[in-house]
Amino acid sequence: MKIAVAKGDGIGPEIMSAVLKIFDANKVPLEYEMVDMGKWVFDKGFSNGMTPEAQQTIERLGILFKGPMETPKGKGVKSVNVTARKTWNTYANKRVFQTLHGVDTVFSKAGIPIDITVVRENIEDTYGGIEHMLTHDVALSRRFITRPGSMQVIRYAFAMARQKNARRITCGHKANIMKITDGLFLECFYEVAKEYPELKADDIIVDDLCMKLVTRPDTFDVVVLTNLQGDIVSDLCAGLVGGLGFAPSANIGDHICIFEAVHGTAPDIAGKNIANPTALLLSGFAMLRHLGLTENAAIIENALLYTLEQGVHTGDFGDKNKPSLNTTEFADAIISNF
Ligand code: NAD
Repeated sequence: MKIAVAKGDGIGPEIMSAVLKIFDANKVPLEYEMVDMGKWVFDKGFSNGMTPEAQQTIERLGILFKGPMETPKGKGVKSVNVTARKTWNTYANKRVFQTLHGVDTVFSKAGIPIDITVVRENIEDTYGGIEHMLTHDVALSRRFITRPGSMQVIRYAFAMARQKNARRITCGHKANIMKITDGLFLECFYEVAKEYPELKADDIIVDDLCMKLVTRPDTFDVVVLTNLQGDIVSDLCAGLVGGLGFAPSANIGDHICIFEAVHGTAPDIAGKNIANPTALLLSGFAMLRHLGLTENAAIIENALLYTLEQGVHTGDFGDKNKPSLNTTEFADAIISNF
């Protein structure tokens, strides 16, 4: 089975090499076609950050495993990440945040387990980038929320919640203020909820959601939100389980799926071989399971969990009194625990 791989920018090549090394050591039956995407492709003059060959390869193979990518600053340049999600209509962004033994947080220390799946709408909202100066002093941005766009991500969230035997599914929104846009999203949520009587479906205003997530995260299960609110809430959830180094993400479409970490290119630590590859590895497990490679996913996941439980860590987490491993050493430690 072949998949497309883009190493990404910043820490991308370092964490991707670590993850592919772990896959190879487990003899994961995948072949990789490397594709050209990211900042250096922008720099070569490709305005969407990917070459036409990369686009064709991804469309042929249907799966893209990618490192984080940087978007050059300045007007007229669109994020390659946003372009990819839009081009291939990967409408649902699934992010799973779980307590990992060995990754200390205030909640793990208090014995409060966390298992929250955030489903973020991935295409619409303010991410259309429709904004302009109305006058010299007034900037205007347009937000669009559609019924078909809302229905497809909400349907995905409910189906996924049923599959994982979730007890509760919650819609986060700001429909008390944005009555028409968030109001439409909320209306779609309760429309789909009728088809899932076994699930407790409820809604919460997004600011209240943020407060309750940091006080009682164990009461949440699946949370579905519009694009921008989902982006912010999922970084908050990453903080609950130890930080961005532990936040995986799957961009789900009907024809193409993209698996990547939630975090960015981490320019502050790029090139030092000290980044934590766990988030990309967790995204890799989601990809392996999506491809039916459940046994490989289980073996590597057990090795990761055992490694973390042993207190093995990179510099961004863990016991500061114990020496940290670099990216390559951390990957080797996981491999030694297969
Ligand atoms: P960031 O996620 O790159 O970094 C935030 C902080 O988290 C930094 O201190 C960084 O060192 C740390 N961090 C992130 N990942 C880490 C890891 N694996 N191990 C250890 N520490 C880690 O966010 P940013 O600085 O706001 O963004 C940098 C660039 O990344 C920007 O160009 C942004 O557009 C891009 N970005 C890309 C994606 C993507 O490709 N999906 C997502 C977010 C940001």
